[in-house]
Amino acid sequence: MVYIRGNPLDFERWQDEGAGRWGYANVLPFSRRAEARDEGGDAYHGDSGPLHTRHGNLTNPMHAAWTKAAAEAGYHPCGTCRIGRTDDPLAVVDSELKVIGLAALRVVDSSVMPSVTTGNLNAPTIMIGEKGADHIMGKPLLATANAEYHIADSLREGQR
Ligand SMILES: Cc1cc2nc3c(=O)[nH]c(=O)nc-3n(C[C@H](O)[C@H](O)[C@H](O)COP(=O)(O)OP(=O)(O)OC[C@H]3O[C@@H](n4cnc5c(N)ncnc54)[C@H](O)[C@@H]3O)c2cc1C
Repeated sequence: MVYIRGNPLDFERWQDEGAGRWGYANVLPFSRRAEARDEGGDAYHGDSGPLHTRHGNLTNPMHAAWTKAAAEAGYHPCGTCRIGRTDDPLAVVDSELKVIGLAALRVVDSSVMPSVTTGNLNAPTIMIGEKGADHIMGKPLLATANAEYHIADSLREGQR
């Protein structure tokens, strides 16, 4: 499994589209909490979560050649129950993942993503699970993060 927590711009776009408190600074602490990285924790990476990660050991030049030959834009279907403002006719759940108009039902999976992401879905889905669990338990949200992050130039203007 490739652990890609997502392009920070995806989360910023979600927030712009009405998913309050789902910007990258809001969600990064939940991704860190979920992770236990062999190389240790830092501003991006956790060191004591349930999800074990390590750098891939791709030293053979054949790996890069294979990746280049096999690369494709797979897209990642998601977003049938998007987070949004309660006055957004396309929104299904609010910012705490409660189904708008119903009293006691939440959705906590990749269907709440307000728009299709640029990268893989598994790590952001786990982050949604972490943050959703805190909403369900009524816990205060983790403090926002201020870690700087890298954005590839090719991803600044739009999705792949
Ligand atoms: C072959 C494959 C390889 C992948 N590889 C990667 C990868 O390398 N890296 C990565 O980041 N992501 C990868 N993904 C994507 C990742 O697995 C998914 O994005 C992620 O699991 C989505 O989580 P989810 O909770 O939204 O949905 P799911 O994990 O699909 O969970 C939905 C759950 O809801 C249940 N369900 C459905 N309908 C109902 C119903 N009516 N009532 C009750 N339960 C229901 C299902 O049984 C399922 O357990 C891969 C996916 C596939 C299929």
